[in-house]
Amino acid sequence: MTSEFEPVIGLEVHVELSTRTKAFCGCPATFGAPPNTQVCPVCLGLPGSLPVLNLKAVEYAIRAALALGCQVARVCKFDRKNYFYPDLPKSYQISQYDLPLATGGAVEFLTPGGRKRVGIRRLHLEEDTGKLLHEGVESGSLVDFNRCGVPLLEIVSEPELASPEDARLYLTALRSLIQFTGVSDCRMERGSLRCDANVSLRPRGSREWGALVEVKNMNSFRSVKAALEFEVSRQARVLSAGGRVARETRHWDEARGVTFPSRSKEEAHDYRYFPEPDLPPLRIEPEWVEEIRAGLPELPEARRRRLVSGLGLPEYNAWVLTSSPALARLFDETLRLYPDPREVSNWVMGDVLRVLNARRLELEESKLTAEGLAGMLRLIDRGLISGRAAKALLEALVVDGGEPARLVEELGLTQVSDPAALAGVVREVVAQNPSTVADYLSGKEKALTFLMGQVMKRTSGRANPEVAARLLRDAMAGEGRAGSGAGPDSGGEAGGR
Ligand SMILES: [Zn+2]
Repeated sequence: MTSEFEPVIGLEVHVELSTRTKAFCGCPATFGAPPNTQVCPVCLGLPGSLPVLNLKAVEYAIRAALALGCQVARVCKFDRKNYFYPDLPKSYQISQYDLPLATGGAVEFLTPGGRKRVGIRRLHLEEDTGKLLHEGVESGSLVDFNRCGVPLLEIVSEPELASPEDARLYLTALRSLIQFTGVSDCRMERGSLRCDANVSLRPRGSREWGALVEVKNMNSFRSVKAALEFEVSRQARVLSAGGRVARETRHWDEARGVTFPSRSKEEAHDYRYFPEPDLPPLRIEPEWVEEIRAGLPELPEARRRRLVSGLGLPEYNAWVLTSSPALARLFDETLRLYPDPREVSNWVMGDVLRVLNARRLELEESKLTAEGLAGMLRLIDRGLISGRAAKALLEALVVDGGEPARLVEELGLTQVSDPAALAGVVREVVAQNPSTVADYLSGKEKALTFLMGQVMKRTSGRANPEVAARLLRDAMAGEGRAGSGAGPDSGGEAGGR
């Protein structure tokens, strides 16, 4: 549908900085307190109150800027962005307009076609607004001002994203970078990472720009991709039918899976920006910037290099394993206890992420530890659990946590390797599947797979596969000898299938 047109997408990302206090007052900036308990005259915008800049917020913003490779300005200033909305008691937001804290920089991400690099246009510091609450309210809205004045970083990309999937990958890489710097937890479901997009379409290969549509209200990585996919096809439909795309703001409706034009505060585009008279311009000493740079932790790129050239992992694995600090830490710590990079990487990227996704859990919310994961891998090595039982064990380690060996006992996952304990099941399976046994005896090695499946089914996957296969072969060889003694009739059974 979009083959005649190519999308041009830019993202505006807002990240709440996890400073202890707000940007311009001493109120706590923590999430989840009862409504309107973390407020004061400054963040409520009461007359006569004066803002005082939180230097920690500036330090955090610089840390993020450096991680993104931005140039930090020598001087920046704050401006008032004026608009009226019930979540903004001052009727203006303190933001940065023409002299942002940082510019330039880039985010790299890995696509199936190789690495891509998308530029960062600017990064600036501003304050968050309050939150309107509609749930459980019969008419009107309630407003919680706790979030008012929480320091917010706005990161604006260049319009260089070529597809909704690229946008998702960019966002993932950006989140990972910010999380590694430790300045925000970037949790979209809590609103500490928010994303708006600018989407336009142009004829493939053209340098012209189409009308820009701003898409808002995307609340998860999945919805960013879904909303952009919808918007790209919608615009393509309009253009293919000879129509014109209107320049507007649209909201994503998660439930209906559509974007719709919104009548919103942004419709009046004149924010009457002017310099904030209560805050002097901010001079940033290069020495301070260098000090912050020196204090940066190992960032994803350096880590990926270590995983690829140091441990010999494929580049794709390195990207997945650095997609969040928690995942990177789990990998590192498990590897210390169980030094097999391939094996640990396979489990972390495969089953660990699968279980977390299925349960919609962040790794930090799960009970999985490096000790648990390494313990599980050792149980597999010692033949105490089968691969299938390991998957069940991993579920338990993620959800409930605990000591792997004890969980295996509790859940009855111990692998049965004792031939005497398996002999009965094997005899039964052989006796009840005469035609398959005959297939095997006539040289169809595949028949063994079916019989193994039967043994696994009857032992809830606990039979040691090697032992079970050996027992099956032996039992069938016995059948074969017995069968050859019974005369030519016995072949009829195989043919009867
Ligand atoms: Zn306050």
